[in-house]
Amino acid sequence: MSDTDTTQASSSGLRTPIVAVLGHVDHGKTSLLDKIRGSAVIEGEAGAITQHIGATAVPLDTVSRVAGSLVDPTDFDLPGLLFIDTPGHHSFTTLRSRGGALADIAVLVIDVTDGFQPQTIEAIKILQDSSTPFVVAANKIDTVPGWNPREDSPVQGTYDAQSDRARSRLDERLYELIGELSDHGFSADLYWRVQDFQKNVGVVPVSAMTGEGIPDLLTVLMGLSQRYMKEAMAIDVEGPGAGTVLEVKDEKGFGATVDVVLYDGTIREDETIVVGGTNEPIVTDVRALLQPRPLAEIRAESRFDRVEEVSAAAGLKIAAPDLEAAMAGAPVRVVRDREIDDVIREVEAELAEVEVSTEEEGVVVKADTLGSLEAMANALAEAEIPVMRAEVGDIAPRDVSIASTADDPIHRTILGFNVEVLGDAKRHADENEVRIFRNEVIYQLVEGYDEFVEDSRKAQQETILENITRPGRFQLLMDHTFRQNDPAVVGVEVLGGTVRNNAQVAKFEGNEPKRVGRVKGIQEQGEDVEEARRGKRVSVAIDGPTVGRQIEEGDELWIEIPEKHAKILEQELTEDIPADEREVLQMYLDKQRRRDPFWGK
Ligand code: GDP
Repeated sequence: MSDTDTTQASSSGLRTPIVAVLGHVDHGKTSLLDKIRGSAVIEGEAGAITQHIGATAVPLDTVSRVAGSLVDPTDFDLPGLLFIDTPGHHSFTTLRSRGGALADIAVLVIDVTDGFQPQTIEAIKILQDSSTPFVVAANKIDTVPGWNPREDSPVQGTYDAQSDRARSRLDERLYELIGELSDHGFSADLYWRVQDFQKNVGVVPVSAMTGEGIPDLLTVLMGLSQRYMKEAMAIDVEGPGAGTVLEVKDEKGFGATVDVVLYDGTIREDETIVVGGTNEPIVTDVRALLQPRPLAEIRAESRFDRVEEVSAAAGLKIAAPDLEAAMAGAPVRVVRDREIDDVIREVEAELAEVEVSTEEEGVVVKADTLGSLEAMANALAEAEIPVMRAEVGDIAPRDVSIASTADDPIHRTILGFNVEVLGDAKRHADENEVRIFRNEVIYQLVEGYDEFVEDSRKAQQETILENITRPGRFQLLMDHTFRQNDPAVVGVEVLGGTVRNNAQVAKFEGNEPKRVGRVKGIQEQGEDVEEARRGKRVSVAIDGPTVGRQIEEGDELWIEIPEKHAKILEQELTEDIPADEREVLQMYLDKQRRRDPFWGK
């Protein structure tokens, strides 16, 4: 067994809390992780922190050395912090454990100058949905004009040492941040003012560049975990391991491998494991457990060291046959002394939790990982967008074929979160009038689709309205008969709604509508027009009646609305027609319904 065995569980059986770093692109997630790694490794002390696959462990000793007077190590019995190395909420949503987020705690990185951005909001939503406690790292404080940096020092000292101007500039930005957090439902304050971290989000001003505030950040994370997560950290270290797949990777000499974060128990070489796959759970035997080789030995033939066993919490690579079909975000379970079928059922049950409920009719959803698929599904359910199929993976021609079977054209759509469009899929989609929406921010993806639905609905209604008979009421003016018949040409005033050319005209006798003829032409001040709106005085040619017989000067006439059109107008389009037209429609319906209560229903 190599000396890089990085078992993190302490003798007390308390495991390391798992920390994820989230935030908008370029706000400094990677830099912050680098800084934490860097400040944890000081000269001659390499090895104090250990590099895992996909994670970095910062032991309590290191936290207390970095934090100096901020931390009294005897206050803690948790062994340290395990930072997930892949920053960003894509990986965070991937990271599930039994019944929730894999990360026990999170750091939300926000650039103090840039403030809230789309992915900040998205990250907040994800943290809220998964009830993950978090602190805000208000990053890049060194960019405040006039800032005078004090490398690696706790933030309060460096804050007090600034000029009044620099300090008030920083204050301004911090309060803006705190205000935005409050807009999103989180009461937040500078961390040293927070009494109860369960009620308030602590904001830690930091610089990933100068290291200022890093001691504070580590201290707050450690304190929060110790205070609120101790019970959750108590595990049976010797029990069968449970973890989550971060990534499926081909590795030279090993074939397909999975990078895993182990959050419970122990995994050993040669043990049988069950891993969630794209089609069904994969049952396989561990061929090798791999951890990164220390930098000094990098020229060795492999980048990895084999270890015999690993205990939670830890990041590791597992090499085993049949892992090609393993799925990012899926569970990994060690079988040990249990029935394989029971463990398979356990894995299936966990996958089923994430399974998106699908309907006969709806959109096709593709996402990069199981966790992001679930987050997508939640967002779509909230927006009441039905889903026909939801799967992990890139957009392939097969997905286009499935999407093209939707009845409603607005559902012939693929929503892709953080995925590629493969080979012929794009052409295939164009040919089949399937639309592909892609985005790296879930709510923008959903909003984009919503906008499209709204636009198509409007366009659809416009065409319906063009083809539907519009309500209209008009009156024959006295002494304005220009022609008795064939056609009758009369001056009229439009009392409400719209009179259109070619419309049928009716006259009510009591509540009985009698058709009198059809509009054959409309002239407004000598010019031919296609329609006349309320208030207009126009001359109208009506084919059918004779003035003085079927119609008289002073008569009120109506545009005859077919029953089907009346129904559509009343039930679907009321919002889309002008108020006066709506009024005429109502009058028309009232008259008809006095005769037949169910008319147009
Ligand atoms: P990520 O996309 O969130 O991982 O952001 P990065 O860590 O890649 O940082 C984006 C850019 O911001 C890089 O050019 C960093 O050097 C810079 N940066 C990150 N943190 C700080 C900081 O605290 N101060 C300053 N001045 N620059 C920073």
